Amino acid sequence: MSKKRADLLITNIGQLATPRGKKPARGEKMSNLRVIRDAAVAVKDGDLTAVGTGEKVLHDYTAPKELDAGGHLVTPGFVDPHTHIVFAGSREQEFEMRCQGASYKEIALAGGGILSTVLATREASEDEILDQSLPRLKRCLEFGTTTVEIKSGYGLDTATELKMLRVIDRLRKKTPLDVVSTFLGAHEVPPEYRSDRDGYVRLLIEQMIPAVAESGLAEFTDIFTEQHVFDVSQSRRILQAAKEAGFKLRLHADEIVSLGGAQLAAELQAVSADHLGAISARGIKALAESGTIAVLLPGTTFFINLESYAPATALKEAGVAIALSTDCNPGSSMTESMQIIQTLACLYLDLPPAEALSASTLNAACAIDRGDRVGTLEPGKQADLVIWDCADYRAIPYHYGVNLVRTVIKKGKVVVGGL
Ligand SMILES: [Zn+2]
Repeated sequence: MSKKRADLLITNIGQLATPRGKKPARGEKMSNLRVIRDAAVAVKDGDLTAVGTGEKVLHDYTAPKELDAGGHLVTPGFVDPHTHIVFAGSREQEFEMRCQGASYKEIALAGGGILSTVLATREASEDEILDQSLPRLKRCLEFGTTTVEIKSGYGLDTATELKMLRVIDRLRKKTPLDVVSTFLGAHEVPPEYRSDRDGYVRLLIEQMIPAVAESGLAEFTDIFTEQHVFDVSQSRRILQAAKEAGFKLRLHADEIVSLGGAQLAAELQAVSADHLGAISARGIKALAESGTIAVLLPGTTFFINLESYAPATALKEAGVAIALSTDCNPGSSMTESMQIIQTLACLYLDLPPAEALSASTLNAACAIDRGDRVGTLEPGKQADLVIWDCADYRAIPYHYGVNLVRTVIKKGKVVVGGL
């Protein structure tokens, strides 16, 4: 029998570790990885066409190019489903103030906080924002992330939100990553509407959402449902308008105060509810009965030094699908590394390494509606994978604070590291 032709064979994979399927893994299934020793994969037209033992794949396939993985670990590329990496300016002075014990109010009075990023982003040109954001997106790739969601939300007026969304679109064309775009005009109430908060809700519904829908620049609409930001009833109005305009939905829900954002996410069939540090028992039940995925952001809890992490074990036991993300943003989680998120999830969310990996690949892909294309290493999915500088997937969270990526392959092409 003649061999089938592929474009690329990746051989000598010491350990290949991947979750399976197109639907999110729930409960104990999160730990159910397929682990193959002495593996190989075949790639054709940017997709995986065979994944198995080296013996089997090399028996069945031939290709003009071969890449020797050197006996190292291979996993799917990370999917980071919640980032704010497009912004202008930097806030390390604020970090220094926090280290010296300054309160949020003192930082805001000194010109810090989210509004400082809003002002910087409004003032910067589109090209300047692009120039500042591109290195961050490249860093995502260098740290093993091959698909990323990016939100607007530092404009808080129609023109600047559209400017941010155009930057996200240009980033998509400038890097090999798959970029999923989210409109987050409801990130905060801008200074000019502080005494007329409902006026900003009306602006969102009547002007901003239709303008963004018309532009075609965003797939999702997101909102910060939190005390002193948008309450549940304002959030429902904004999200319903977004849904009617054709957007898929996601929410920042129950991060600090248990307002009922998780129940609202379930009610509106949002794709994800994110943060959930203060989710109630009713919120957990609502998510479990819905298809909404819980995106947990332990990097944020760590970086703003809160004691209480999201109740991952209770969510898992209730059957809620859990995904992980960096929440990369200039205020509360300034990292592009999904690797450090693995460590934090293992230590503070009590997720074992296999579950952290599922939550950062398959479940994270489902949290941005890409479970059919990425997140696992299986025939028919995109050939997005990482060759690691270690031999076992458990070394990723264990060997923390360094970059263990050796080579990143996106749609069958080497995009980081050498052959
Ligand atoms: Zn966020």
